[in-house]
Amino acid sequence: MDQTPPPPHVFIFPLPLQGPIKCMLKLAELLCLAGVHVTFLNTDHNHRRLLRHTAVQTRFSAYPQFRFDTISDGLPDDHPRSGDRFMDLFDSLEAVSKPLMREMLFSYCRSGDARWPVTCVIADGALTFALEVAEDVGIPLIYFDTISPCGLWSYFCIPKMIDAGEMPFKGNDLDAPIQSVPGMEGFLRQRDLPTFCRVRDMNDRVIQLVMKEAQEVKRSRGLILNTFEELEEPVLSHMRFLYPNLYPIGPLHTHLKTRLGAEPTPPLASSNSLWHEDLSCIAWLDAQPLKSVIYVSIGSLAMMTRDQLVEFWHGLVNSGHRFLWVRRPNSIPGGDWEGQIPEELLVATKERGCIVSWAPQEEVLAHPAVGGFLTHSGWNSTLESMIEAVPMLCWPYFVDQQVNSRFVNEVWKLGIDMKDTCDRVRIEKMVKDLMDVRRDEFVQSAERWAKLAKQSVSEGGSSFCNLKCLIEDIKLMV
Ligand code: UDP
Repeated sequence: MDQTPPPPHVFIFPLPLQGPIKCMLKLAELLCLAGVHVTFLNTDHNHRRLLRHTAVQTRFSAYPQFRFDTISDGLPDDHPRSGDRFMDLFDSLEAVSKPLMREMLFSYCRSGDARWPVTCVIADGALTFALEVAEDVGIPLIYFDTISPCGLWSYFCIPKMIDAGEMPFKGNDLDAPIQSVPGMEGFLRQRDLPTFCRVRDMNDRVIQLVMKEAQEVKRSRGLILNTFEELEEPVLSHMRFLYPNLYPIGPLHTHLKTRLGAEPTPPLASSNSLWHEDLSCIAWLDAQPLKSVIYVSIGSLAMMTRDQLVEFWHGLVNSGHRFLWVRRPNSIPGGDWEGQIPEELLVATKERGCIVSWAPQEEVLAHPAVGGFLTHSGWNSTLESMIEAVPMLCWPYFVDQQVNSRFVNEVWKLGIDMKDTCDRVRIEKMVKDLMDVRRDEFVQSAERWAKLAKQSVSEGGSSFCNLKCLIEDIKLMV
């Protein structure tokens, strides 16, 4: 009888949103390079979009031990999956996808199945039901929180803030300091906490959900993070008291690029986009002077009202700078604004602007014509900008983004935080500050962080070694 143990087989379940999928596909590829078998679970809705807009299947065909599987997210195909409908997706995942996931994992472990048994589950930290499912089936689970560790740590400290009387917020002064998040004393204010912390009722569903996340992560086998030790040292050291098994292995996109650089066989990492990437913006950038363009994008979930759009537009035009603006379909509610834009904005945009519905962002940020990034401070965007030493003007929308923008401004000195403001005069001034007045100051810091990030994913660096530990631990789970 063959006594050879089965190979390590990881079942990866990302939160079915653009940022986590992109991030977890990079982790999947890194695991494949280490010889680990991977099943990657997409929702039917996202998988169709991924296949429509990318060559992901061809890319992963280089790894015979990789396969996709799909699951229903329980929502009709045309149901909005943007940030303003976040909880619809969560509820539906819990009600519909959870039992399907359980069934699927059982079938993967049943003898006689042609596939290797699953030996480890890696699920997004926000999928709090995943641990219970993995336990039912008897498979160890490691969580992966693809948001920023500084943001995550603020979630995990909600009970501390409640005990200290700092939550619910007292009074109406959002500039009031918060003292009970260890590692962030001295610069964290109420307004820098995730917007869901602004509610008065601590039984609010989102508050309860993130508190549950903190508990489930504690019971899991470990927590993977998309950061590097040097960037978030104080936060990580506090986190380790409660969660000793941390694997900070980021920035993942740079980590993968570095590994693929040393491995000539698999094709280069390319797009993992759920929207069609409009490559015409790269041709437009090619025709612009060095560092002259501010890139504007609010990511895959954030929304903008018509009034905010008009303020941003005036601010950008009045700054005199060139701009490349991603306007994701349906990110501005109501379709009536298009016919009401002042002529002067349309003329100026023709002269020195480019608008696309989705861009190849990593390529855009690496382009020599890009000199700044007006961002919603999503964690992937923040890391992608940092690596290319592009200063940021931050307009956070929700979840970890309020914390990220504070760190960008106060801790890492990579740009300006404009949270909770949106008027054309301030935007014009901040764009000028970012692109001209304070540019050198931000670029200097950014270059320093970019260098440390690249070192961390190179042989012997912190993220390199942490990934090695993660892979060894996964192999021990067989
Ligand atoms: N992105 C992209 N093209 C765009 C806008 C965004 O490829 O036009 C990618 C971006 O590179 C990043 C991800 O979408 O990897 C967005 O993730 P992030 O964490 O920044 O924000 P989220 O969309 O989750 O709010």
